[in-house]
Amino acid sequence: MPEYNIPKTQRAAIVEKEGSGVTVKNNHPVKSQDQLAPGECLVKLECSGACHTDLHAATGDWPLKASLPLIGGHEGVGVVVAIGKDTVRSPVKLGDRVGIKWLADSCLNCEHCRKGREQNCPEAKLSGFTVDGTFQEYVVSYVNHVTPIPDGFPSDAAASILCAGVTVYRAIKYSETQIGDWMVIPGAGGGLGHLAVQYARVRGLRVIAIDAGEAKRDLCLQLGAEKFVDFKESKDIVGEIKKATGGEGAHAAVVTSAASGGYTQAIDYLRPGGVLMAVGLPGEATLNASIFFTVFKSIKILGSYVGNRQDSMEAIDIAARGNVTVHFETKPLSALKDVYDGMAAGNIAGRIVLDYSK
Ligand SMILES: [Zn+2]
Ligand SMILES: [Zn+2]
Repeated sequence: MPEYNIPKTQRAAIVEKEGSGVTVKNNHPVKSQDQLAPGECLVKLECSGACHTDLHAATGDWPLKASLPLIGGHEGVGVVVAIGKDTVRSPVKLGDRVGIKWLADSCLNCEHCRKGREQNCPEAKLSGFTVDGTFQEYVVSYVNHVTPIPDGFPSDAAASILCAGVTVYRAIKYSETQIGDWMVIPGAGGGLGHLAVQYARVRGLRVIAIDAGEAKRDLCLQLGAEKFVDFKESKDIVGEIKKATGGEGAHAAVVTSAASGGYTQAIDYLRPGGVLMAVGLPGEATLNASIFFTVFKSIKILGSYVGNRQDSMEAIDIAARGNVTVHFETKPLSALKDVYDGMAAGNIAGRIVLDYSK
């Protein structure tokens, strides 16, 4: 068994109060092995992705409130350096490289956990929201819920799969689509969207990407979308989608948008029996669907919330085998405040991964 020297303090990005902004401290305490409860593990992180949800948690604009002071982050990758004593049947051991996702832990025994909806467990712990997350060098996590990272899959390339990737992967997995079906992905050139295009292609779906501008058009087509609709230039988005799909409309749409318009529009461009997968988590927006056409067209509206342990392992496995690639940029932990400012202003392209060796 490897032995690890665990320091007493570390760098951590902390939000003291709602809206107070994030401060990087150098002297945040690290839990020692003795302080870990059974089932807990300490992970020395190499990096962490930054997700829009972290910004919601830091600003407090959600119907759910984060516990404060808060260390955000839920796309971390690192090495298990300690496991709480009396932990039984741990699926991971010291030295294993693992990922930390949004769902940090769940009871594994309630009805939701037993049915594979661990995200809905009443005892769910959420990384960077109800428990300290991955914007620190050492995070306490849970042996049953960390996601093993296959050898040879770089940590920074894996990071964003743990939230953005898992979220869109699960939505596509449960979209009730078959090989050769049409899937519409609004925001296809963005952080979640560009991963959704790739997972949809892995599943044998035909992708219609909606986004704006030449750069995003090129990216979406290069990733395998068959049709690109520029929402800023198109005069009839619904008409273009119907035309591309032989007049019937698409079989499914995975909508990650924060605005309600993207959801309402999907009811119009889906074919009868189509599935709307709602994935975005805007704090305020409501779904304003036509009841008449939802019924008349036998539309299914489903919500999909991150993913369970199995979804996460599948999403990671597909990416590790080279079928899905995250477009990301690395920055040091000290840049987190600027990253949040960029997210709030809406001018971050792709995903940001904070590299703790910097
Ligand atoms: Zn996230
Ligand atoms: Zn449970």
